[in-house]
Amino acid sequence: MTAIDPDTLIDDTTFADLGLAQPLLAALADAGYERPTPIQRDAIPVALKGRDLIGLAQTGTGKTASFTLPMVHRLLGGPRRTRVLVLTPTRELCLQVEESVRKYSKYAPVDVIPVFGGVGYEPQERALRSGVDVVVATPGRLLDHLEKRNVDFSYLETLVLDEADRMLDMGFAPQLNRIVEQIPKYRQTLLFSATMPPEVEALARKYLRKPVVVQLGRRSSAATTVTHAVYPVPRGRKNDLLVHLLTKEAHDSVLVFTRTKSGADRVVQDLERAGVKAGAMHADKSQRERMAALEDFKSGKLRVLVATDIAQRGLDISGITHVINFDVPQQPEDYVHRIGRTGRAASTGDAYTFMSAEEIGMVRTIERTIGQEIPRVSVPGFDFGT
Ligand code: AMP
Repeated sequence: MTAIDPDTLIDDTTFADLGLAQPLLAALADAGYERPTPIQRDAIPVALKGRDLIGLAQTGTGKTASFTLPMVHRLLGGPRRTRVLVLTPTRELCLQVEESVRKYSKYAPVDVIPVFGGVGYEPQERALRSGVDVVVATPGRLLDHLEKRNVDFSYLETLVLDEADRMLDMGFAPQLNRIVEQIPKYRQTLLFSATMPPEVEALARKYLRKPVVVQLGRRSSAATTVTHAVYPVPRGRKNDLLVHLLTKEAHDSVLVFTRTKSGADRVVQDLERAGVKAGAMHADKSQRERMAALEDFKSGKLRVLVATDIAQRGLDISGITHVINFDVPQQPEDYVHRIGRTGRAASTGDAYTFMSAEEIGMVRTIERTIGQEIPRVSVPGFDFGT
């Protein structure tokens, strides 16, 4: 575990100044912590007030204590019910949060249980059924327990989403949605994330109410600038619509995703015929050809790169102005990853999705996952009239 860099503890604020109760101050003294870290100094008073909070901070900044301390403080007194749920992406983090809660509740009657997969089910079931104060869980195993009605969240007061970006990267969005559907609407929600890509923004918009944003250092500004749009278009007219859009408007660098390799090749041919320089990246191309296409795209020689799923993850291309989903992604998570290509490094970015009548259901699923409706844009002559 990373230790705190003492140079970051620059001001004189003490833990007592932050309003933490005596049992916590005693536990902190035992732990040998002299002063709060910047994220603790800024986040603790906000969380103590019961406000929603977005904490932009990485591991090693003291972020765990910035939510576990106010959480334990708020649990002092009150009924013995499950009142706090912390969701974490991994078992390691789950254990780390548990340890943190135990450390700060040394002089407080607060119980905590870690819940993750790959270990015995019954001990978790017993603890959950007993109404343990704090549940720290990975999403998958918790859902199992929820489905078996082993846990009662009707008294839940606080939800913490720890390392939200990692949870989404690991594909936990559907599980998160299903869990949050089953906990009280009126609650405090704290979201911590090292980065703020569009998918985390969407999650925050959906689950938090008027959050206070506490951040360390500069925040990547791009995330809020991605604009989504869905273009309803008959399946057979997608190529025409793409050519139409790319020749009518100034799109500097566009990444187009198609479902199939032949689809990608056809798009490239149609664009080239219309005078738009385009290249393809898919599994039938040799590594050399793929690298060359990527180079040309990065240098600006190619305005459009058409890729199948293989190119989807791990492609680091800064400065992309547009992502176009020629076909609606089959998995909502793929949509989130794709729009992550734009807006992350560029200052603006647009994400267009072409939707045929057959794909309406898939778009609805994506919208449910990202927690927002994507505006429909109708291009005269192309819309199928939905
Ligand atoms: P975290 O960023 O939450 O993973 O914490 C990093 C490490 O710093 C953990 O080992 C904490 O126990 C420790 N730590 C947290 N807050 C403080 C503090 N105010 N002073 C000194 N160490 C701390």
